[in-house]
Amino acid sequence: MWIITVSRRINHADGSFAGVALATLSIDYFKKFYDSFDIGRHGAIVLALNNGIMLTRRPLLNDYTGKSMANTVLYRDSISKKATGTVFIVSAQDGVTRLNSFRHLDQYPLYVSSALSKDEILADWLTDTYTHTAGVAILLVVLGLLGFHLVGQIKLRLNAEAELVRTRDALETLNQTLERLALQDGLTGLANRRHFDLALDKEFSRAVREASSLALVMIDVDCFKQYNDIYGHAAGDECLRKISQVVKTNQNRPGDIAARYGGEELGVLLPGTDVRGAMAIAEKIRLEIHNLGIEHTGNSAGVVTVSAGVDAVVPIIDLDKPLELIQAADKALYAAKSGGRDRVCENTSANNSHRSATHQEPLTAE
Ligand code: GH3
Ligand code: MG
Ligand code: MG
Repeated sequence: MWIITVSRRINHADGSFAGVALATLSIDYFKKFYDSFDIGRHGAIVLALNNGIMLTRRPLLNDYTGKSMANTVLYRDSISKKATGTVFIVSAQDGVTRLNSFRHLDQYPLYVSSALSKDEILADWLTDTYTHTAGVAILLVVLGLLGFHLVGQIKLRLNAEAELVRTRDALETLNQTLERLALQDGLTGLANRRHFDLALDKEFSRAVREASSLALVMIDVDCFKQYNDIYGHAAGDECLRKISQVVKTNQNRPGDIAARYGGEELGVLLPGTDVRGAMAIAEKIRLEIHNLGIEHTGNSAGVVTVSAGVDAVVPIIDLDKPLELIQAADKALYAAKSGGRDRVCENTSANNSHRSATHQEPLTAE
C-alpha cells in the first residue's frame, strides 16, 4: 500500500532544533478525496511532486505511482515552467484531447493537475448547439415556405391589379367611344343634333355670363332633293360627306362646333364671334363648297351649292333664348333661298336691338 510521508522541522522558541514531526498520508485518502469531484468519464486528477514524480491520480493507475512524468509534454512545456496554467493536450496514453489545469502548492513541493475531456466539456454545448441549429433550420424552412406563399400571393395580386387596370383602360376607351358615338353624326362625322343642342345651351349661358357675342350659321344644300333624284341616295350621302368636310375644316377655334342639324341642314356655332366674323366664315364655306365643283345638273349653278343664314347675338339674361338664335339664322337662310340660293344672308330683324355688329350688304354668289 502506498503512503505519502510529510515531515516538518520543529523549533524551540529561540529557534534551535527541537525535532521533526512526521506524518503519513495513505494514497487511499486521496483516491476517496478525488473521487468526490465530477470530472466526467474521461477526466483525470494528478497529484505529483514538483520534479514530476507522480504520487497518485484518478483514475488510479498503480503502475504510475512513483513514476516520473517529467517527459510528458504537459510537464515539460507547462508544469515545469509556470506556477499555474491551463492548456489543451492530446493524451499520449489514450489519444483523448483534454483541457489540463495545474497549480503548484504554495507550501509543499507538490502540484495538482486536473484534466477534463474536451469532448465532454463541449458535449452540453454541442447538444444545445444542435438543438438551436435544428430550431433555426425549422424556422428557416417555415419562413421560406411562408415567403414563397407570400410571393405567390403578391404575384397573384399584381396580376389581378394589372388585369383590372387593363379592363379599366378598355372600359375607358369603350366609354370614350360610346360618348363620341353618342355625340357624333354617323354619316358626316360632325357633331350630332344632341351635341349641337347641348353646346348651344352651354355657349348661350357662357355668352350671357361674359356678355360676348354668339354666332350661328345655318347651312342648307340647294336643290338636294333633285340631287338624290338624279344621282341616287348613295351619291347624295357622299356629297353630304364632302360638304361636311369643308364645314369641319372651317372650325377655327376650339369652341367652334359644326353639327348636322338635320337632313342636309348643317349648323355652325361660333362662340365669341359677331355677325361680321360669322358672315365671313359662312361665305368662305359657301365658296369652298361651290368650288368643289360637284356636278348637279338639277341646280342652276350646275354644281352643288349651299345657302346659309347667319345671326349673332350678345344675349341678355331672361330676355333672349337659344331657340331665338336658331329661328333668326333660319330666317336668314330662308332669305338666302328666296334670294336665289348659293348665297349667305344675315338676319336683319329690326326688333333684335341687342344683336351684335351687323353687316349691311348680303353676301351673294359671284
Ligand atoms: P332647297 O334648295 O329649297 O333646300 O331644296 P331641297 O331639295 O334641298 O329641299 P329640302 O332642303 O327641303 O330637301 C331636303 C332633302 O334632302 C330631302 C332628302 O331627300 C335629302 N336628304 C336629307 N337627308 C339626307 C341624307 O342623309 N342623305 C341623302 N342622300 N339625302 C338626304
Ligand atoms: Mg335643301
Ligand atoms: Mg333642307
